[in-house]
Amino acid sequence: ADYTEGIGWHDHRIVPYEPITLDPSAIIFHYGQTVFEGLKAYRAKDGAIRLFRPEENFRRMNESCDRLCMPQIDEEDALEALKTLIKVDKDWVPEAEGTSLYIRPYMIATEPHLGVAPSLTYKFIVILSPVGMYYKEGIAPVKILVENEYVRAVAGGTGAAKTAGNYAASLKAQAVAEKMGYSQVLWLDGVEKKYVEEVGSMNVFFKIDGEVITPALNGSILGGITRKSIIEMLKAWGVPVTERRISMEEVKTAQQEGRLEEAFGTGTAAVISPIGEFSWKGEAFTINGGQAGELSTKLYEELTGLQSGEKEDPFGWVTEIREE
Ligand code: PMP
Repeated sequence: ADYTEGIGWHDHRIVPYEPITLDPSAIIFHYGQTVFEGLKAYRAKDGAIRLFRPEENFRRMNESCDRLCMPQIDEEDALEALKTLIKVDKDWVPEAEGTSLYIRPYMIATEPHLGVAPSLTYKFIVILSPVGMYYKEGIAPVKILVENEYVRAVAGGTGAAKTAGNYAASLKAQAVAEKMGYSQVLWLDGVEKKYVEEVGSMNVFFKIDGEVITPALNGSILGGITRKSIIEMLKAWGVPVTERRISMEEVKTAQQEGRLEEAFGTGTAAVISPIGEFSWKGEAFTINGGQAGELSTKLYEELTGLQSGEKEDPFGWVTEIREE
């Protein structure tokens, strides 16, 4: 769909995947005025297509739009449009276990304008792509490099929005980490580089002395939908879970004292990804002997089970798409 200031959203359409034409002066190319989302559709055994909390993605998209000075979308219309689009491409939702249809809604500023100002025109686009498991390792633990030079976001910046610039800011550190044999970077806070923020495309959780701790949303961390779901799930299970600031020093001390039981990342792509090793300031340490922990494994099984339809959905998180 297209947006024009004064008119609103218009020209909603479904077209074959193809290149789009933009003016070389379009604001998106110069000032990065853009937001995106990522969610997945799974195929249940009975053929139904299942979306995991899609309304949360459109709600978050509108929050990102607000931060980037972009127009709001109608969240209900967007969900209906998404269902229609998936029905058109329903054969794209893979049936094999662990695979899914990745859905990427995004908005870009299209007005040709070389001055720094919010665009008067936008495009809202949704692309679909079948995907396999995110990490080659599957549920196998990942190795994470704690980034000590660069920062991804600072409070008051755009860290809490899902916008391109945050990811551009992360590329260099990610490339270094990969060269060193780590699969992702753990970002620290942008002021003191002391407190844990998040991993490249995941929020992060620690289990210390039986308590699950995740950094509180502070304006520079993306409020992950998987994060929110895991917190709700743990609360429902009666597992103590706390959202607060946690320093890397605290994590390391807990590890040295044998109190760090598990660490894991959460995100749409990886679902739950156990963390087997951190490297921080040139020193590496393992968690749970580098093995996937009991809680991480249980959360992974529950969440993927619920998303794929193998398990009950006591939370009412799944939106089903069925043939009429
Ligand atoms: N943090 C960042 C920076 C991300 O890109 C993502 C992936 N969207 C997440 C956390 C996890 O969010 P979600 O659970 O909504 O996928």
